Amino acid sequence: MRITIKRSDVDEMIRHALSERPDEACGLIAGRDPEDGTRVIEKVYLLTNTDHTNEHFSIDPKEQLKAVKDMRANGMVPLGNWHSHPETPSRPSEEDIRLANDSRASYLILSLENEDAPVLNAFCIEKKEDGKSVRKEELIVLEG
Ligand SMILES: [Zn+2]
Repeated sequence: MRITIKRSDVDEMIRHALSERPDEACGLIAGRDPEDGTRVIEKVYLLTNTDHTNEHFSIDPKEQLKAVKDMRANGMVPLGNWHSHPETPSRPSEEDIRLANDSRASYLILSLENEDAPVLNAFCIEKKEDGKSVRKEELIVLEG
């Protein structure tokens, strides 16, 4: 999977994630999925983590519903979600892997471990017969 995201959207995620510390920040991503191995993120939703901890997140269900309605109204499809790791690297935790239940979703994780150099990676978490497999996806940030 080759995913593109705009620099301005990445910057918004970073701003939101920094302001939510010490809790994890979270939200949804939406855009275009031509189903040819590429995805274009056109909008990033900054939503409330109702867990309010630095170890996991739950997206506020009302906000989630509103976001999905907004996606439909704007001709976008849901592509997955994003969340921050305030103190740990940009890769899925055991808990993230356990809770991931959509093999088609892209999971974006923004690490603030080094707050001067946040790291954003995308993952695909697939259910297999013998557990789950985690694959890093190609993420391209469009500058300008
Ligand atoms: Zn996580």
